[in-house]
Amino acid sequence: MAQHLSEIKIENELLQDLLGLTRAGLTDTVRNLGAPEIHAKTLFRRIYKDLSINPWSEPTLPLRLVAVMQDKFAVRLPQIKVAHRSAYDQSMKFLVGLGDGREVEAVLMPEKARLTLCLSSQVGCAQGCVFCHTGRMGLVRQLSVAEIVGQVMLAEHWLREHPEWLESTRLAPGTRISNIVFMGMGEPLDNVEAVIDALSILTDPYGLALGMAHISVSTAGHLVGIDRLYDAHPKARLALSVHSPDESKRSRIMPINRRWPLTDVIGRLRERIGESGPPVMMQYTMIAGVNDSDADASALAALTVGLNAKINLIPLNNVEPSRLSAPPPERIQAFRDVLHQAGIRVMVRYSKGQDIAAACGQLVAFAKKPSAAELG
Ligand code: SAH
Ligand code: SF4
Repeated sequence: MAQHLSEIKIENELLQDLLGLTRAGLTDTVRNLGAPEIHAKTLFRRIYKDLSINPWSEPTLPLRLVAVMQDKFAVRLPQIKVAHRSAYDQSMKFLVGLGDGREVEAVLMPEKARLTLCLSSQVGCAQGCVFCHTGRMGLVRQLSVAEIVGQVMLAEHWLREHPEWLESTRLAPGTRISNIVFMGMGEPLDNVEAVIDALSILTDPYGLALGMAHISVSTAGHLVGIDRLYDAHPKARLALSVHSPDESKRSRIMPINRRWPLTDVIGRLRERIGESGPPVMMQYTMIAGVNDSDADASALAALTVGLNAKINLIPLNNVEPSRLSAPPPERIQAFRDVLHQAGIRVMVRYSKGQDIAAACGQLVAFAKKPSAAELG
């Protein structure tokens, strides 16, 4: 008798997802199935290096293991619901559909010698920074490890299926994702356990083998999460969203500062990694009349003492209906000069994908903002 669609769906949901298991987790799974652990390496490689969704279709695996795998497991990728291409700088924004119908966004950004994926760690965000669109959604839910890693995998699959896109960039054919930034939707350190496992998977030499130095976890200053992250991955790279060196002003624009003041966060970074540890990127979104004075620049310079810090200045992207705006270019330049003269490594970064609302703080209103440059 023909199987009813809903039965197939339930069966499918009962399958256990292999995506999201670290290699240690996959090794346990294989061992529990009574097979030699070595096969976990093969399965891991098939999933993450070969991008296979049937990783058990591999002649070196024992037939008994293959049979159980086929029966009980699946590699389920999230879906790309819409892919928008920016005409302005070629970046691609993916609207990613999750199993429960929720959506997040991931943005692929080609640069001179690297291909960076900006990914999401939560649906929405609980932190409510006043200049951020995602913050206005509140937290809807956490992403699972599979959903975080799945964004990388689906972008890799998309790349393989769209070689013409790479041709349109300055990158060589066959280029794979080289850098990851956790700067999409969500506060990654509010979902720190999932982010820790995702980092283990992304850096695993049997899989995508990304260097820890090529992955940047951006935080608004989650002190407990910072400790937890460095305990698990001492070489992790943090991007700290500073946005104001002044505690009371920062508390007004970033409510997280009331819980974990900037001085405590910076103090903890000095203790844990200091000047000789991994570099810390300080993100500084520039808002006219709020945080763009020379005095702000000098106070920001003082924060870098005792750290191996670099500063990125990001002119605010407009988020309707807020009246906040970016300072004029001359003010940004003057601010940059103060930092430069203090001997600090500083860059002004204009967000990518502005025409497709892929820029920082704009990730949310995607589905309502159709673009002519839709690729599908
Ligand atoms: N929650 C994390 C990471 C996601 S936001 C964090 O806050 O760091 C990624 C970056 O985009 C952060 O530096 C954030 O402050 C910045 N951002 C948010 N809204 C912005 C806007 N409207 N214009 C420019 N940058 C913005
Ligand atoms: Fe959350 Fe980061 Fe947006 Fe603040 S800036 S609301 S922490 S996503």
